[in-house]
Amino acid sequence: MATRASVDAVIVGGGMAGVSVGYFLADSGASVALVEAEPTLAFHTTGRSAAQYLENYGDDVVRRLTAAGRPFFAEPPEQFCDSELWSPRPMMRVGGPELVETFHAEAAAAQVLVPSTEFLDAATALQRHPALRPELVAAAIYEPDAMDLDVAGLHQLFVRGLRHHGGAIHVSSPVVAVEPSGSRWRVTAGDLVIECGVVVNASGAWGDRVATMAGVEPIGLHALRRTAFVARISDQFDPSTWPLTDFESPEHGMEVYCKPESGGLLVSPADETPSDPCDARPEELDIALAIDRINTWTTLDVRSVSSSWAGLRTFTANRSLVAGFAPDAPGFFWLVGQGGYGIQTAPGLGRASSELIQSGSLPSDIADRGVTPGDLSADRPDLSGDLIAGH
Ligand SMILES: Cc1cc2nc3c(=O)[nH]c(=O)nc-3n(C[C@H](O)[C@H](O)[C@H](O)COP(=O)(O)OP(=O)(O)OC[C@H]3O[C@@H](n4cnc5c(N)ncnc54)[C@H](O)[C@@H]3O)c2cc1C
Repeated sequence: MATRASVDAVIVGGGMAGVSVGYFLADSGASVALVEAEPTLAFHTTGRSAAQYLENYGDDVVRRLTAAGRPFFAEPPEQFCDSELWSPRPMMRVGGPELVETFHAEAAAAQVLVPSTEFLDAATALQRHPALRPELVAAAIYEPDAMDLDVAGLHQLFVRGLRHHGGAIHVSSPVVAVEPSGSRWRVTAGDLVIECGVVVNASGAWGDRVATMAGVEPIGLHALRRTAFVARISDQFDPSTWPLTDFESPEHGMEVYCKPESGGLLVSPADETPSDPCDARPEELDIALAIDRINTWTTLDVRSVSSSWAGLRTFTANRSLVAGFAPDAPGFFWLVGQGGYGIQTAPGLGRASSELIQSGSLPSDIADRGVTPGDLSADRPDLSGDLIAGH
C-alpha cells in the first residue's frame, strides 16, 4: 500500500543540485521531501566530477554564483561538517605560440571578476608544472585562488542539514508520475505518494524526462559524456603542488586536462559526447586519446591507468544555469543546466533557488553581485536549440 505525505516541496534528484536546494529550503523552515531513483545518493554525475572550484569558468552568472559560495566553502556550518571542504589547487591553462595573444586578452577580461588572474610567460608556466614540454608551451593563464573540493563532504553536509531541519530523504524512489492536484502537485515515487506546493526538478540529465512526466514543456537539455581516469606516473615526479592544468590548442580548444590525485594524476580528454540519460561508462578510445595528448604535452610518459569513469554533464543550449519556475506550470521549479560547474556553484545556486522558490527574489549578496532572477529564469528562448561551443 502507498505511503502518503504532504509537504511544501518535493525535490526530484539526490545529486548536488537536489541536496543543496533541499538544505537551504529546510533551513528556512519549509517542509521538504527529496526522492532519488537510485539506492544511493550522488550515484550519477555528482559522484564523478573532477572536484574543482574555478572562478574563471562558465558564463558571468556561473562565475558570480560560484564566487557567492566562497564564504560557505571557507566556513561551512560546523555542526554538519567534520573537515575542511576545500584546499588550494591553482589552475593553469597552457597553450602554444598561436594562443599568446588570445591568452593576453582572456587574462585581462578575466581580471574584471577575478582580479588575481595572471598571464604567465613560458618560463613561469614551466616552474609551476615542471613536466611540461618547453618546446610546446608559449604562455599560460593562471588562477591562483582555485581550489580542490571535497565533493562527498559537501554533499554529506547538505544531507545532514536537510535531515536536521526535518526534511525526509527517500532513496530507491524513482518518480513515475507528477500530476496537478487542485492548486498543488501529486508526485508518485516508488511506493510514496506526496502532495506538495512545489516540485523541484533537480534530476540532472533526466530533467526533460521528469518535466514531460509532469506535462511541462521540456527545455531540450544536452547531456554530454565526459571521461576521467587516474593515470599512474613515475616516482621521479611529485605532482602534489602542480596546478590543475588544461592544455589548449586553437583547433581543439581544451585538448586534455590533469591534476594531482592520490595514486597519480586525474586526467580527462575533456570530451563532450552527446548521450541519452544513463549510467555513463568510459570508452577505451577516449582514454587512449587522453593518454596520447598528455604524453604529447608533457614528459610524464603515462602508460597505465588505475581507475576510470565517466559522467554526464548536462547543459542548456547556451550553457547557462536554470533556476526558475516553468512558464507553463505554476509550482514546477527547474534546477538544471549545471554542466561542468554544479559542484562549485552548489552553495550559491542552492541558496539562490531556495529564495527564488519562497520569495521570487535573490539573496541580497547575490543580487549585489549583479545576478538577477531573469538571468536564471526558465523562460528564456536561448535555453533551447543547438548547443553553443564551450568546454
Ligand atoms: C568528469 C566530470 C568532471 C566534472 N568536474 C567538475 C568540477 O570540477 N567542478 C564542478 O563544479 N562540477 C564538475 N562536474 C559537473 C558536476 O559533477 C555536475 O554539474 C553536478 O554533479 C550535477 O549535479 P546534479 O545534482 O544536477 O546531477 P546528478 O548528480 O546527476 O543528480 C541527478 C539525480 O537525479 C536522479 N533522478 C533522475 N531521474 C529521477 C527520477 N525520475 N526520480 C528520482 N530521481 C531521479 C538521478 O538518479 C540522479 O541521482 C564534472 C562532471 C564530470 C562528469
